[in-house]
Amino acid sequence: MARYTGANCKLCRRENMKLFLKGERCYKEKCAFERKEYAPGQHGKLRKKLSDYGVQLREKQKAKRIYGVLESQFRRYFEKAVSVNGITGEILLQFLERRLDNFVYRAGFAASRKEARQMVRHEHFEVNGRKVSIPSFLVKPGMTVSVRENSREHPRVLESLETAAARGIPEWITLDKQNFKAEVVRLPERTDIAYDIQESLIVELYSK
Ligand code: SF4
Repeated sequence: MARYTGANCKLCRRENMKLFLKGERCYKEKCAFERKEYAPGQHGKLRKKLSDYGVQLREKQKAKRIYGVLESQFRRYFEKAVSVNGITGEILLQFLERRLDNFVYRAGFAASRKEARQMVRHEHFEVNGRKVSIPSFLVKPGMTVSVRENSREHPRVLESLETAAARGIPEWITLDKQNFKAEVVRLPERTDIAYDIQESLIVELYSK
C-alpha cells in the first residue's frame, strides 16, 4: 500500500504547526518544529501570503498529514462525508478519527498514528474479539478494540500505555488499561478533535 516515506518533521514545518507524527519525540525539546519554526527549504523563512486557494490547500494537506492518509483515500472520505446528512467537514473529520489506526493511537496503545498503523498491520489488535489488520477499518460505538493476548508484553504497547494518560484520551473512548482494551462509547464529535483544522476550507476546496 502506498504511503508517505519522507521526513515527518518537515511536514510540521511546512504546515506551521506540530502534527505529532513521531510519538514521544514530539513532546520533547528535540522536536524539530520547536527548534526551527519555519518552513523547510532555502526560502522557508520567507513565508509568503497565501491566496484563498493556497489557504484551502494547506488545510487539506494538514488534515491528510495528521491522519497519514494519501490523496485518493482522503478524497474518498470526503465523498462519503458528502453523502451523509450533517456538516460535511465535521463528518469528514469523524471518518478520519474512526480509523482503526487513529483509534489505537488515541486510546494510548501506540505513540503515534504511524506506529499504530504498523502495529495494526502486524496483527497486534482485535476488534470485538476478531483479528483485524486493516488500518482504515472504521470503528463504531459499542465496539471494543483490544491488544491480542500474545502482544500484551510488546514494549511499544507498554511504553505507550505508560504515557497515554499524559497525552489525554478523548471522551469518546474508554480505556481499560488493566485488560489492554478500549471501547468506543460514542461517535467522535468536533470538540473531541483538538487540532487546529478549518474543515470548512477543505469542503470549499473540494466543492470547486
Ligand atoms: Fe512534528 Fe513531532 Fe517532528 Fe516535532 S518531533 S516536528 S511534532 S513530527
